[in-house]
Amino acid sequence: MEILLAPHPLLRQKANKLKIIKEEDIKIANQMMEIMDKAPGVGLAANQVGILKQIVTINFEDKVNNKKSKYILFNPSIIKYSIETVVMEEGCLSLPEQYADVERPQDIVVEYIDENKKTVKRAVEGYEARILQHEIDHLSGKLFVDYLSSLKRNILIKKVKKLQNLKKNNER
Ligand SMILES: [Zn+2]
Repeated sequence: MEILLAPHPLLRQKANKLKIIKEEDIKIANQMMEIMDKAPGVGLAANQVGILKQIVTINFEDKVNNKKSKYILFNPSIIKYSIETVVMEEGCLSLPEQYADVERPQDIVVEYIDENKKTVKRAVEGYEARILQHEIDHLSGKLFVDYLSSLKRNILIKKVKKLQNLKKNNER
């Protein structure tokens, strides 16, 4: 398992909903957790490791409120968005070293199945709401650069390609 970089075509595919959560899916989620922590990242969607299943992992630390949460979401969906929006800088493990301001709803209500196969419905705000929106976008083949102008989007994706080539040359 490794993290795919833009413009990999699997990042543009829709992930499939899980009919039932199998042992195998929990294994995938645990592996994703490991890769995400190593990266390090605050969230990871299964598309990013080339698996088209609706699985997201989160490792979120809110230093202001001294709150840590590490959890797995199967079949997550956002069922409510706040009218208020907020601009925050985003990055992505599939677009290393690229950052841009993105405007999104401030708060959401998310529904998902957890690793105990229980359906969870939860109101989320602030930075955590931001991470979840970003990761759930991945499951429908969407990247944060899609919120930018096509010019800016292309520049960021080109930079990822350039960085990759540099790395490859250095490894030679
Ligand atoms: Zn991402």
